[in-house]
Parts: sequence; structure tokens; C-alpha cells
Amino acid sequence: MSDRTELSQLGEFGLIEHLTKDLKTTQASTIKGVGDDAAVIDRGDHYELISTDMLVEGVHFDMSYTPIKHLGYKAVSVNLSDIYAMNGTPTQITVSIAVSSRFPIEAMDELYSGISEACERYDVDLVGGDTTSSLTGLIISITAIGSVAKEDVTYRSGAQEHDLVCVSGDLGGAYIGLQILEREKEVWKENPNVQPDLEGFDYVLERILKPEPRADVIAVLKEQGIKPTSMIDISDGLGSELLHLCKQSDCGVRIYEEKIPIDASTAAQCQEFGLEPSVCALNGGEDYELLFTVRQSDFEKISKVKEVVIVGHISDKASGAATVYPQGEEIQIKAQGWKSF
Ligand code: ADP
Ligand code: MG
Repeated sequence: MSDRTELSQLGEFGLIEHLTKDLKTTQASTIKGVGDDAAVIDRGDHYELISTDMLVEGVHFDMSYTPIKHLGYKAVSVNLSDIYAMNGTPTQITVSIAVSSRFPIEAMDELYSGISEACERYDVDLVGGDTTSSLTGLIISITAIGSVAKEDVTYRSGAQEHDLVCVSGDLGGAYIGLQILEREKEVWKENPNVQPDLEGFDYVLERILKPEPRADVIAVLKEQGIKPTSMIDISDGLGSELLHLCKQSDCGVRIYEEKIPIDASTAAQCQEFGLEPSVCALNGGEDYELLFTVRQSDFEKISKVKEVVIVGHISDKASGAATVYPQGEEIQIKAQGWKSF
């Protein structure tokens, strides 16, 4: 009998590593292949950036509570986020969809109006794609193309001991927004006559349904003359992204729990669900904020950037990655992230 290894034994990151570990690149223009938020290609006077992300119905979104226009907007947002995470500027996207006959043309029009709105907002051109049928759900795969000056490109791998660890915006909101949507879905399933009660949850619902990539943060850093030493976008939770950054940069990290930025409405909702806000920030996903490191000498400059907070510092590799709690207790950061398999 032939051997069979379940995908669940590897998980997403293990599977990617397994499939790509023997890949070799031969083109002189391939500066960075697999392993960062986007591939980096030498175009002579600048680097081109390319990144792909796919959203699958039932895995990444649930049509019963996702406005399809928002879904289109989000599909673009999450791709652009990876281009910004390289310190770049997105310029074009391609959009591929697999769609079942369950969806009328009007729904596809709505999807595209969301896609167009995001393209307009972030000044990118939709330049192609592919359309095919699907037996059941909707699948959207977007490829984003961008560019960056060679001296500005920022990888996951550049963090060094003593660098300051920074996070934009606030975290955990998307996760708690999703919990609210799931809760209302259960109520609705039991009694379809009850209207969902989503009043007062605007912020966290917007975080999950219509995230904005942090173009503004990239612009402010440039304005302030700050070049991050490393950067990644926060798609799978702060904990998981910190581990990526440490692995690629060959370092450890200390994050101070009380410094993790949490919005007041996120904190209030966490309490309702009996969840610790910092746990939602570390292990929840889909915030699409930026996690980056800067040299200590940039402390004053970064302190002036209101969109960003310093949450900790880079430590040596042997010390590992840990969250420090107010009483001094250190808890090792574990990857949670993706559990689709
Ligand atoms: P992100 O969360 O930033 O979108 P991912 O975790 O999806 O990044 O991917 C990590 C890296 O692995 C990226 O460089 C991506 O291009 C690469 N990658 C993901 N899936 C595959 C695949 N099936 N084949 C080759 N490379 C892949
Ligand atoms: Mg990313």
C-alpha cells in the first residue's frame, strides 16, 4: 500500500514549505521568490512586486452574512495589503472568478462594483483575469502588481536585535466582528423571522467585512524618512506574523501585552464573549494592519506617527518569541493562524 500523508499533518505553512522547498529560480531578474508577502522582480530602474490571494466561499467568507459588494472590495484590499507590506505601491490587479449558477448577474455586478470601488480608492487598474464556472461556491483570486524603488523594498527578513517592533492601527476587531456575525447567523438559523441585531457593532463589522489596506501608513513612513528594517502584513493574527518575521530574520521578539493596540469597541465586545482582547489580537486574523520593525535610532520619528504604536523589541534568536504580561510573566507565542485543512 502506498503511503498517504494527510494535509492536516502539515497545515498551510508546512504545505507551502513542502511544495516549494526544492524550487530553484534561474532568472537573474528574480530577486525574491516564495517566502515574503510578494515576489520581487528586477525591472532595471525599479523592482516589480507580485502577490496573489484567493478567497473561497465557505472557507474565507459566508454568503449568508457577507454583502457581496464588500466581498469584492475586501478581495482587492487583502491583495493590496501584501504590496504595501513590501513598502511598495500597487499599480494593477487581475481578477479571476469561479462562479456557480446560484449567483445571478446582479450579484456579479455588485461584486464588481466593490472591486471597482477599491481600485478607484487605491488608484489601481484592473487589467485582466479569468472567468470560469464552479459547481458550488464562489471563488475569487486576485493578483496584485506593484512597484517599489530598489532601495525602499522591505522584506520579512531584515529585523535585527534591539529593533523596535511596531504595529499600525488596532488589532482583534476583525475577529470579534466575525464572532458577532456567526452568533447572529445561529440566532437566525433557529428563527428566520428574527432580524439580526447588528446595531452598535459598526466598527468591528467593518473590520471584518470591509478592511482597508494601510496605504496611509506606508505614505507617512516615507514622509517621515523612516525605512522599516522588516515588514509583514497582519492577515493571520499578530502571533503568527511575529513568528514569520522571527523565522525569516533569524531572531527572537518580546511583545508587551499592554501595548498591543485594541480599539475600545473591540475590547467591549471581547468582554461580551468572555475573550481576552490581546488573545484576539494575537490569534484572531484578518486585521490587515502592518507589523514592522525600525532601528532604535528612529524612535523619535516613529513616536510622532499617530497611526503606529511600538509594541516591543527584537531579541536574540535563543530567547524565542514571547509576550510579556504586566507582572513580568512571559508566554511563548504559538502559531495559530490557518486551520482550513
Ligand atoms: P500572505 O499571507 O502574505 O498572502 P502566504 O502565507 O499566503 O502569504 O504565502 C507565503 C508565501 O508562500 C508567499 O511568498 C506565497 O507566494 C507563497 N505561496 C503560497 N502558496 C503557494 C503555492 N501553492 N505555490 C508556491 N508558492 C506559494
Ligand atoms: Mg501577507
